[in-house]
Amino acid sequence: MENITIKINGLEVSAPKGSTILEAARLAHIEIPTLCFLKEINEIGACRICVVEVKGARSLVASCVYPINDGMEVWTNTPKVLESRKKTLQLLLSNHERKCLSCVRSGNCELQQLAKELGVDDESYYDGEKTASCIDDSAAHMFRDNSKCILCRRCVAVCEKTQGIGVIGANMRGFATFIGSAFDMGLGETSCVSCGQCIAVCPTGALQEKSQIDNVLKAIADPAKHVIVQTAPAVRAGLGEEFGYPIGTNVEGKMAAALRRIGFDKVFDTNFSADLTIMEEAHEFIDRVQNKGVLPMITSCSPGWIKYCEHYFPDMTENLSSCKSPQQMFGAIAKSYYAEKSGIKPEDIVSVSIMPCTAKKFEIGRPDQAANGVPDVDYSLTTRELARMIKKVGIKFTTLPDEKFDAPLGLGTGAAVIFGTTGGVMEAALRTAVETLTGAELPSLDFTDVRGMAGIKEASYNVAGMEVKVAVASGLGNARELLNKVKSGEADYHFIEIMGCPGGCINGGGQPQQPGYVRNTVDIRALRAKVLYDSDKNNPIRKSHENPAIKELYDTYLGKPGSEKAHHLLHTTYVKRSINGN
Ligand code: SF4
Ligand code: SF4
Ligand code: SF4
Repeated sequence: MENITIKINGLEVSAPKGSTILEAARLAHIEIPTLCFLKEINEIGACRICVVEVKGARSLVASCVYPINDGMEVWTNTPKVLESRKKTLQLLLSNHERKCLSCVRSGNCELQQLAKELGVDDESYYDGEKTASCIDDSAAHMFRDNSKCILCRRCVAVCEKTQGIGVIGANMRGFATFIGSAFDMGLGETSCVSCGQCIAVCPTGALQEKSQIDNVLKAIADPAKHVIVQTAPAVRAGLGEEFGYPIGTNVEGKMAAALRRIGFDKVFDTNFSADLTIMEEAHEFIDRVQNKGVLPMITSCSPGWIKYCEHYFPDMTENLSSCKSPQQMFGAIAKSYYAEKSGIKPEDIVSVSIMPCTAKKFEIGRPDQAANGVPDVDYSLTTRELARMIKKVGIKFTTLPDEKFDAPLGLGTGAAVIFGTTGGVMEAALRTAVETLTGAELPSLDFTDVRGMAGIKEASYNVAGMEVKVAVASGLGNARELLNKVKSGEADYHFIEIMGCPGGCINGGGQPQQPGYVRNTVDIRALRAKVLYDSDKNNPIRKSHENPAIKELYDTYLGKPGSEKAHHLLHTTYVKRSINGN
């Protein structure tokens, strides 16, 4: 691509034609602060924090959207620029409920950080009338506090563009503008799928998950309760970021140690039930292929995707695997098999999950998720909530030793751990389905065609003489594109994996929030995914059907995959929802 040369702060900078001033500055390691900007998602130049001076321009320009041209001269840090940014921030803060001491985002709030950097102190706000504040707590998974919203519209853009949903937008005009759902409905009344991607991108404390930390701590303090915890694969790849570790650090051992010190009676791993999911799902797929069942079969691990399918593709719910998600399978087995084995009544077990996902909070309350007459899972916490809980009880995470999960529900394979990234469920299922169908060992366990961060991936494999066509999509905008191809007959896959969040669970709506600067410059998803692929590579057992704890479960309790007991505990049904309601 053709490069052009401009001057920034007197330095000559060469950048590709078509770049913005912000991009060109970054190439020269000149950082311009941003607030509303999110690369490829929210490029609207609305907040005006990134303004710079351009020679010949009549006013300051927003560097995130202003294209460079040959010979341009730019200044990023003149008194005029700095004063303008500070005034913008003062105006934002004058209409902001400044409760940093009690705010969940204090310490990683982009607004707070900018105020510090630009020298906005307590004395320098413009105090006056504030927009009427409103709280929306109608959804199961999150709430919105508009008194902390700065109208950056990142949430609106990610919901509309990335997820292709668009259930939130700007209501009213001018000073009265607020972000909410159409006709001022509560989010819980809309076809929001609970993915939490809006929370993940919000720079402030305006959006947050509904916290269940205190319920969990209360259960732990109750001597009559046996409180167990499961942690999803992606949590170990993200949690460390909350404690200062670089993105892409595996903190599995310290996480297990922390959970034990919080007081959980047993520390288990969702990897166990990810392996169980593969056993059931691979069996279901083979059954559908051999008995002319509905194809393509589509994975059902991601509750954000499931709700999306129910709202937006209700005619395809028969394509969904009937398998419950690993979270729910774990809960059902914990309150049946584990309860019997341990001599504890299911109603005395409190089953807690730690998930990278906010849709799991919605999922635990779905009908048909109480196989033993009590909820399969009682509380579902996000990775962020786990970090807050660790801090709340005073554990010094970085000084913890590495510990292991408890047996038997703490044993998982390499196939299970890659569930946490896009393509992982497909790869794990193929390892088991191919070996089951051919009766022979796979020469290589790596299905590299379905790896990587592309939004849609396709591959085809020869399995026991049959060509099996598979596809993988992550992010619901990509899911829509793929499903439209299936519906129009343009594609004829046998098996599809869909994850609600772009990149899969490693980028789930419950994972640690990284500021815009990091999101715009670092491939967070790839770094977190590498943790899981490395963990798979280093696991001595890499196929779900070789997990000894799973074998024992089938031998002594479930019988075989797809058995009546397995169906009762591990499978579910779906509903057809409307596009305009919940
Ligand atoms: S959103 Fe940020 S600035 Fe506002 S109260 Fe919370 S931490 Fe403070
Ligand atoms: S949770 Fe997902 S679907 Fe719901 S408003 Fe947020 S981004 Fe949109
Ligand atoms: S809720 Fe958060 S992301 Fe959405 S506009 Fe307000 S501050 Fe921005």
